[in-house]
Amino acid sequence: MSVYKEFIEPNNAYVANFGDKGKLPLPPAKKLAIVTCMDARINVYAELGINEGDAHIIRNAGGSAKDALRSIIISQRLLGTREIAVFHHTGCGMLTFNTPGLRKLVKDADPENPGVNAIDNIDFLEFPEIEQSVKDDVAFLKENPLVLKESTITGWVYEVETGKIRQIV
Ligand SMILES: [Zn+2]
Repeated sequence: MSVYKEFIEPNNAYVANFGDKGKLPLPPAKKLAIVTCMDARINVYAELGINEGDAHIIRNAGGSAKDALRSIIISQRLLGTREIAVFHHTGCGMLTFNTPGLRKLVKDADPENPGVNAIDNIDFLEFPEIEQSVKDDVAFLKENPLVLKESTITGWVYEVETGKIRQIV
């Protein structure tokens, strides 16, 4: 039983209470872009008290700023955001593997696939420690010539155990 079959009923309820959100402008009202992990336990809106229309939420495995760069450029240059907040979190899956090991796992699982070596071109951007990885990602953005110099850039850790956030940089 696939989960997609469960989409329509809750969506009907959502549409019934959609209100005037269809009138929200495209550029984020708070001129804010948040980079955070795809982790299923993280509810960015509730955790930070933001709403639809307020901010870009750029999610990927680990909340990697490097992975998010394409979206950050679009967010800043085309949609006017001027602040970036990078969130990594406790208990992140990115602490549990390394790129060579994941490449091997994928190749070993699919030896007859002629395209599988494309995995060697992917850097999975894992990290061994979250506070350092937050600092590294903020430094990456501050030093990157494609990120606007006037950007306010902060770095945070979110605790999946408690829901608490703490600022690192
Ligand atoms: Zn994560």
